Amino acid sequence: QHASGSRELCKLEGVADHPGPSSPSMPAADDKVLVSVEVCLKPSSTARAEDIRAAIERMLEQRSMTYVNGPIPVPVDDSFLFENVKRIRICDTDEWVENHRVLLFWQVRPVVHVYQLSEEGPGEEPSGDDMLSSFNEWILPAKEFDGLWESLVYEVGLKQRLLRYAASALLFTERGVDPCLVSWNRIILLHGPPGTGKTSLCKALAQKLSIHFKSRYSWCQLVEVNAHSLFSKWFSESGKLVAKLFQKIQEMVEEENNLVFVLIDEVESLAAARHAALSGSEPSDSIRVVNALLTQMDRLKSWPNVIILTTSNITTAIDIAFVDRADIKAYVGPPTLQARYEILRSCLQELLRAGIVTNYHDVSLLNYSSLKETMHTSETAGELERPLHLSRLLLEAANACQGLSGRALRKLPFLAHSALTNPYTCEPSRFLHTLIETARRELSEQK
Ligand code: ADP
Repeated sequence: QHASGSRELCKLEGVADHPGPSSPSMPAADDKVLVSVEVCLKPSSTARAEDIRAAIERMLEQRSMTYVNGPIPVPVDDSFLFENVKRIRICDTDEWVENHRVLLFWQVRPVVHVYQLSEEGPGEEPSGDDMLSSFNEWILPAKEFDGLWESLVYEVGLKQRLLRYAASALLFTERGVDPCLVSWNRIILLHGPPGTGKTSLCKALAQKLSIHFKSRYSWCQLVEVNAHSLFSKWFSESGKLVAKLFQKIQEMVEEENNLVFVLIDEVESLAAARHAALSGSEPSDSIRVVNALLTQMDRLKSWPNVIILTTSNITTAIDIAFVDRADIKAYVGPPTLQARYEILRSCLQELLRAGIVTNYHDVSLLNYSSLKETMHTSETAGELERPLHLSRLLLEAANACQGLSGRALRKLPFLAHSALTNPYTCEPSRFLHTLIETARRELSEQK
């Protein structure tokens, strides 16, 4: 059933000597579907990743389970795993599930990734006495970005596409594909309206790749540069900043076991600075800074172990020399109805978990696909009635939120809560009614 083309791709994916990135829509060499199983170790664990991986593989072999995204319990009867493992999570099956529905154990070849989160927090580099800090630096996978990838909801395929793209780019480099014959680079541009999760998606992607490539690169780092802050004040200083910053990045990439992600946020400010300089309203120093940045980026590009991630809030054509440099340009738009529903559902579930919204009847909300399906069947059994009622209300809320960004949606439940007359006992359907009113108010204030 699978075309031989995807078989070829899958050979590229299945890196022989270490488990590479996996993608559920690609069959493995034996026609099984590759599924990532991410295993997060406890901060205290000193176990070797190989031992954990072997133990997890044995555990999965013994289970006849259905593979869906989400956590699976750490087995209590395996003291080695129980002592060392904080969480096991099945990832990236959504595309498969969307197209083919269930994914059963015998269809799957799990690719186990073992990692430990860095708790170090961001290292900041102050850019001078009275200037904004120009960049942040994290060791990946970082505690701050734990769960970020899962929390971002887009139409099916977007996250997978980015993941696959970056994984292919790293693989091409690793296999030494000659760039004169096949050209590719490692620059990604996400553009779209503000608040659609572009910056978060870049960070989440870096985190994800750091987990999936753990066995190839022993160190992963993320450097976040705010392009806007580079131009905040003194252009003469900016020049020095850019030089200093890239020198630091250069040192990082020279170490071949380092995988370095450079995130440049709001790249449109580079274009703006250039325009302003050309029209004479800014000192021409700014042109030099932009050019320095572009030159430095070009220089970085030749290193195999660096991925440059960029974002822009400009939705139309970004007229900047830089755009040509990006290999993948993905538009990240406002959340669709399904995404709005899922974002709000995750918010509500979190409030239920925290006991802010009280769930006397212990109902769980249906996911969007199940809800759609149930809506087509006219008869609903008694026990389904309540979850269905709440899920329908949630859908009404998601409908009412058309026009709000992902960022605004994540804030909405808080605003709704603060609008309640009695914030201490709040029953889900009352909460959802307030949420709908709050969404309408927010939207009318946007106008
Ligand atoms: P941008 O860079 O596009 O302005 P951010 O990455 O700063 O957006 O997004 C801010 C926050 O908004 C995210 O951390 C996330 O909580 C929320 N958010 C935005 N879009 C989405 C989405 N599609 N799904 C889930 N959360 C989202």
